[in-house]
Amino acid sequence: MARRIAVVTGGGRGIGAAVAVRLGRDGFAVAVVDLTVDAGAATVAAIEAAGGTAISVGADVRDAEQVEAAVAEVAERLGPPTVLVNNAGILRDNLLFKMTDDDWDSVIGVHLRGAFLMTRAVQRYQTEQRYGRIVNLSSTSALGNRGQSNYATAKAGLQGFTKTLAIELGKFGVTANAIAPGFIETEMTAATAERVGIPFEDFKAGAAAAIPVGRIGQPEDVAAVAAFLVSEEAGFVSGQVIYVAGGPRD
Ligand code: NAP
Repeated sequence: MARRIAVVTGGGRGIGAAVAVRLGRDGFAVAVVDLTVDAGAATVAAIEAAGGTAISVGADVRDAEQVEAAVAEVAERLGPPTVLVNNAGILRDNLLFKMTDDDWDSVIGVHLRGAFLMTRAVQRYQTEQRYGRIVNLSSTSALGNRGQSNYATAKAGLQGFTKTLAIELGKFGVTANAIAPGFIETEMTAATAERVGIPFEDFKAGAAAAIPVGRIGQPEDVAAVAAFLVSEEAGFVSGQVIYVAGGPRD
């Protein structure tokens, strides 16, 4: 049973919600960690409506005490968590000359410090169980993207973090991989369209035109890859970055 207890951060909406629902459908008991208990409630309801088991746990992944308390709560209510999906994320886009200290610190804080704190808290249970699966959400922006020096740095950092986790934790039966999505239709990309002043439908059409498979991605496209990476049969895949972008990336 311990192999079937999963934590998904930022699981209240978007990609995190799709991953949580998919893992619930695949038989995992899922802890949806988001900023507040209320933020995760709809995802929990969706999992329960499909016959699954889920709880909502409120925590800011940047806060070490909140993270420790959240992971302890998961262990108490569901059992030792062995699957972790570090998905919580934010954007604070700006060209470098306009980027504030807070834009930088917030993005690095949620993505990098958040993933570090969550992983440090969960690996204790994974190494005890001699089994674990870690999936970190990177992005095609890791390869560089105008207006995203903070986000690109965080997402590239997550790739280095992932590879190091794979090296350190492999002997405990723990794998770590990153998913690097391209354009996925969520509130995050809707907010970007609004920021640049392009109607979301036009923004999506423009993105789709540049994607080899001819469409933008959906949260379920990412969830399907996460479902494979956290499965027992994926045990020989570790330290990889899988681009889920409708076409190749370098
Ligand atoms: P989203 O719709 O904005 O959802 C992000 C979730 O993370 C929200 O539920 C948010 O909570 C939560 N969150 C933010 N800060 C948090 C914190 N400090 N502690 C706990 N939870 C926090 O974003 P998304 O598009 O689904 O993106 C999910 C992940 O995929 C992110 O890491 C993102 O960078 C990555 N990604 C997305 C795309 C894309 O095209 N959408 C592409 C590549 C990578 P609140 O709702 O309460 O604020």
